[in-house]
Amino acid sequence: MAKILIVDDSKFMRKMLSDILSEEGHEIVGEAENAKEATCLFKKLKPDLVTLDIIMPEVEGANAISALGAMVRESPHAKVLMVSALGQEEVVKECIQQGASDFIVKPFQPSNVAEVVRSVLKSKRIADPRKESIIGR
Ligand SMILES: [Mg+2]
Repeated sequence: MAKILIVDDSKFMRKMLSDILSEEGHEIVGEAENAKEATCLFKKLKPDLVTLDIIMPEVEGANAISALGAMVRESPHAKVLMVSALGQEEVVKECIQQGASDFIVKPFQPSNVAEVVRSVLKSKRIADPRKESIIGR
């Protein structure tokens, strides 16, 4: 069981991820709807894993990539799973280079989300932005 923070500007998407991951036995410790709120909650809640939506309305210049960077610097052991939409391959690649553990693409199947989260939580990899991309699919 992991402590999970869900970040997405869509309430519907947060509910969907929350339901899938609760069903898997995880504890949803918080939800954020933008990058700024996500960074604050990350520091406060110290989750084991964050699902981070790539496309969110910007708040004071914050975006998903800067939130990811802040999280990786704050806690290199936390896993960040990017939630992408189709056509965001370049941004996803950059996020992986910046230390994200993996990604899922919307629309997704609940079983696929559960599987990716299991594998991310099992991986021993510590986020290191200096490492080369490990993107393989
Ligand atoms: Mg979004």
